[in-house]
Amino acid sequence: MNSHDFVIGFDADDTLWHNETNFERVHERYRALLAHYHDAATVDAALLATEKRNIPLYGYGAKGFTLSAIETAIQLTDGKIGATEIRQLLELGRSMLEHPVELLDGVREILAGLAPRHPLVLITKGDLRDQERKVAKSGLADFFRAVEIVSEKDAASYAAILRQHRITPQRFLMVGNSIKSDILPVVELGGAGVHIPYHITWELEHATPPSGAEGRFFAAGKMAELPAIVAGWSARK
Ligand SMILES: [Mg+2]
Repeated sequence: MNSHDFVIGFDADDTLWHNETNFERVHERYRALLAHYHDAATVDAALLATEKRNIPLYGYGAKGFTLSAIETAIQLTDGKIGATEIRQLLELGRSMLEHPVELLDGVREILAGLAPRHPLVLITKGDLRDQERKVAKSGLADFFRAVEIVSEKDAASYAAILRQHRITPQRFLMVGNSIKSDILPVVELGGAGVHIPYHITWELEHATPPSGAEGRFFAAGKMAELPAIVAGWSARK
């Protein structure tokens, strides 16, 4: 990128397209599958604990989720779960990977409006292959100068991406639905963040908005507010 460019980064899942609804659909079927062993709250808590424990090994995404779901089912049924049910779990996991990509309202128009004025970069985490599939299926790839798929979105990974593309942190604005993954690490590096919440937030992404980031943290209700925020942010520099 050019050093005077004001670069905008976009998260993908639940920022550009629906994702958590896909997990929620699978969670419902998972609870139903285990309903004659445990109530929904017990199933949810056990699955979340397994996922949390496994993320350092499996990373984020549908494949790691599927393995955690099978592990939890074995644990919650004291090993009584059968091959038929495990096959159903594998099919559930596969259905997530084959799920169509549904864009959030107004995303295409907003990107089309911003792309001529600012270099856009897509930064997402999860299964490499699944994220590549979703980027391709979204039809949005041409709006982005770069697509970065990382295993964790923390200050170190953002710093590496900014360095690689010669982006000045003070001229970088990240847009995303997760305070933890999209906003806090970027603000820590001196950049700015626009939080656009999705109607469901995964428990492991919960975090408090940054404090003391005057002029560098923006809370938006929806994507339609982004052009005005970008205009204000880049004009103040
Ligand atoms: Mg997201």
